[in-house]
Amino acid sequence: MKKHIEDKLIDKNTKPTSMRILVYDFLSSQEVALSLSEIEDYFENADRTTIYRTLKTFEEKGIVHSIQENTTTKYRLCDDDCDEKTHKDWHLHFYCKICKQTTCKEDISFPSNIKTNFRIDEVRLFAKGICESCLENLQ
Ligand SMILES: [Zn+2]
Ligand SMILES: [Zn+2]
Ligand SMILES: [Zn+2]
Repeated sequence: MKKHIEDKLIDKNTKPTSMRILVYDFLSSQEVALSLSEIEDYFENADRTTIYRTLKTFEEKGIVHSIQENTTTKYRLCDDDCDEKTHKDWHLHFYCKICKQTTCKEDISFPSNIKTNFRIDEVRLFAKGICESCLENLQ
C-alpha cells in the first residue's frame, strides 16, 4: 500500500517523504474534503507547519485541490490528470448544511474541452444543500 503511494508522489514530481506519505494515506481514506484543522487533529503529534506545508506542496503539484467554503479551505485528493501546471477538478463541490461535510460530485462538471477565445485557468463550482444521507434521515 505504502509503495503505491510512493509511486503516486513520484509520478507527480514530489519527493515521497514519510510525512507526505502519511498525509496522502489519510486523505485517500476519506470520503469527504477536510479542513487543515481536521487534518491537524488527526496528526496530533505532528508539527502543524509541516502539515500546512505538505498540503501547499500537494496543491502545487496537482495532488490535492482546495475547496473554498465561507471562511474555511478544505482539501481533497485530485484525480490522476491534475499536475503541477493545471488542476482539472472542474466538478461540483457540494456542502451539506446539516452534516457540514463537503464532497466532490465528479459526475457534475464544467466541460474542460469547450472552445473559447479566452483562457480559463480555474473553475469553481460550489453548491449548498442537503446530502443524500441527511435527506434520508429527514424522511
Ligand atoms: Zn486537481
Ligand atoms: Zn449531510
Ligand atoms: Zn473536488
